[in-house]
Amino acid sequence: TLLVTGASGQLGRGIINHLLDTLKVPAARIIATTRTPANLADLAARGVVVRAADFDDTASLEAAFKGADRVLIISTGEIDLLHGKRLRQHENAVAAAKATGVGHLLYTSMPNPEPVSPVLFANDHHGTEQAIKASGIAYTIFRNGWYQENLFMALPQAIASGHWYTSARDGRIAHGARDDMAAAIAAGLAAVSDESKTYTLTGPHAYTTAEIAALASEVIGKPLDVVQISDEALTEGVKAAGIPEDFARIVVSFDANTRAGRIAMVTDAVETLSGRKPKTLKQFLEANKAALT
Ligand code: NDP
Repeated sequence: TLLVTGASGQLGRGIINHLLDTLKVPAARIIATTRTPANLADLAARGVVVRAADFDDTASLEAAFKGADRVLIISTGEIDLLHGKRLRQHENAVAAAKATGVGHLLYTSMPNPEPVSPVLFANDHHGTEQAIKASGIAYTIFRNGWYQENLFMALPQAIASGHWYTSARDGRIAHGARDDMAAAIAAGLAAVSDESKTYTLTGPHAYTTAEIAALASEVIGKPLDVVQISDEALTEGVKAAGIPEDFARIVVSFDANTRAGRIAMVTDAVETLSGRKPKTLKQFLEANKAALT
């Protein structure tokens, strides 16, 4: 039996769709967990086993994990990222997996989470990887690179004003489609291998901010210039746009991470795992032209 936490989220839903529709895993072999089972009524109607689990409540995790052979922990997404709550949530899930005798643990991490990552929440992922390794359970860690969909955060505003403020300098990112990562993770979850492995999932090509801007400008048909500023000036600018201080600091830490070259890698893991060609950035921009302008 394969279990997916965070099944109501965008990545979780994608993974379950791939298990059912691409990989033809029988629905009765899939357990989907959420804090709010009513949100997964559609999956229950397809025969997926839906269980309630809250990462803040270890007993609920233990009850939910009963009988699961392979458990995928999707990192939780609450914006309390600066206060360590998420690491405690993930540690609860690892402990519950250990207590219930789960055979294989899978987890969605981030590339290069080790100290000293500039990304302010990197320790949540590094700490979770450490907890998984310390548990002695066989594991698969998926270090998910940044989603192409993250570009919806900065690009629409940049396109509207014609200026993209960044502190990333010439750092590169190989954004990947969320659904490509979902396809790869679903394949890893459904695999029979019990070998412990760490994959870094990325898109097919790494671009600088200037290159992304040039591509977006070409696709959208509007000029877009990149303005390199300091982390401090960027933080002030993001806050001035109405973003809360904590989240502004996180956003700027992404640029610092990019600038340090820590998210520049390109791997073929998406294609190796899923067997499909990953979506290019140009395809993503073309498909989302309307949403970006
Ligand atoms: P969503 O916000 O759509 O989903 C997050 C999921 O986390 C929800 O299904 C929610 O489940 C679950 N969750 C949150 N808190 C708890 C809790 N206390 N107990 C149980 N479940 C909880 O995120 P996505 O699907 O888009 O992304 C998945 C994860 O990937 C994110 O949570 C984040 O960690 C990470 N991420 C990575 C990005 C990247 O670029 N690589 C970008 C954005 C996020 P429910 O409410 O049903 O209980």
